[in-house]
Amino acid sequence: MSDRTMEPSTQYRKTWAEINLDAIYSNVSSFRKLIPPQKQVMAVVKANGYGHGAIPVAQEALAAGATWLGVAYLKEALELREAGITAPILLFGYLPEEFVPIAQKHNISISINDFTTFYALYDAVDQGLPPAKFHLKIDTGMSRLGFTEETELLQVIHDYTTRKAAENAHQGTIQHSSLVEWEGIYTHLATADEEESTYFEGQVSAFTNILKLIRSHGLEIPYIHMANSAGIIRLLDFPDTNLVRLGISMYGLYPSPQIKKDFPFRLQPAFSLHSYFSLVKKIKPKTGVSYGITYMSDGEEWLGTIPIGYADGWSRRLSNQADVLVGGRRMKIVGRICMDQCMIQLDQSYSKEEKVTLIGKQAGDEISVDEVAQILNTINYEITCMIGYRVPRVYVKDGKRLE
Ligand SMILES: *Cc1c(COP(=O)(O)O)cnc(C)c1O
Repeated sequence: MSDRTMEPSTQYRKTWAEINLDAIYSNVSSFRKLIPPQKQVMAVVKANGYGHGAIPVAQEALAAGATWLGVAYLKEALELREAGITAPILLFGYLPEEFVPIAQKHNISISINDFTTFYALYDAVDQGLPPAKFHLKIDTGMSRLGFTEETELLQVIHDYTTRKAAENAHQGTIQHSSLVEWEGIYTHLATADEEESTYFEGQVSAFTNILKLIRSHGLEIPYIHMANSAGIIRLLDFPDTNLVRLGISMYGLYPSPQIKKDFPFRLQPAFSLHSYFSLVKKIKPKTGVSYGITYMSDGEEWLGTIPIGYADGWSRRLSNQADVLVGGRRMKIVGRICMDQCMIQLDQSYSKEEKVTLIGKQAGDEISVDEVAQILNTINYEITCMIGYRVPRVYVKDGKRLE
């Protein structure tokens, strides 16, 4: 069971998250094969690629057939550009107007969520830079960001086309033929991963009506998108969109247990979490373990300490709840998880070379991201995001660890 080759020696630490890029490649390829060829795939890499590492994930997803990247904040987009990634990037979140020129400079498309930001965009653009590209966000029922009023949308259509005509008439007096370019329109689904589909269908039909409205004004918008991972599976043959936003399932996780059965292929989880013992010892009967003594040994017991704690995102609420894998078998985390460490009840003595898997596979057993999510009464999305960056990410590609 010795696995010293995986030791992230540059981090001086024997706890690491292992990110399997082959799994990312396989998941994106499976979607690429499934989705009609006229639809492009946007790989969603916000929140540092759901905790997997945005840059390596983005590169892998683009190699596997994705053509767009999606992020929440400008800083996340800039990190991708700094890494030399030139693919189109859409910012989902609100970008304060003073930062619009930075988005322009780095060719990052922004989302416009309401009247105010639409008009502010015209005031904020730097005329010496290429046009500011925007995707109009329509709120069809998520109630997070986006236009809700048809009258406002009509006003935007009117003003955009009027200004466009004026810009065209004045070509030559400004450096670029356009200051602002309407590149896309989209909405976000609130319940695509649920069994009950009434609300979902309501959102789809609301968006369809918006698209009809836009077309009736003779406006041709290059990118139209609606589906997240669950939406992709549900809206495979939906004709009105030409881009999908693939997030959680690119990382090999199902958007919900309910939608799992609708996937025509198996996803490959990319995330696993491992450590090595910092100490293994025998404790006497009636010995308390960790703060508050929430666990006490019955008889003599073997106990192992591993260097990961709640400051790493390994939540204290997993205390006395989660299992880990040691030697291919399940062992229990006993006592309270500390800031930097936690203790494991062992069936025998183990050497410090024995790998401890907190998330992932060993021999025939697996502790899935979903299992940890279930203990914490949350969704798998939160688990990979919550593992902090004190835990180094180690990448595996073509079956080998990347340096
Ligand atoms: C995060 C996000 C997605 C990806 O959703 P998944 O369920 O992870 O596939 C898509 N679109 C928007 C606007 C998002 O914020």
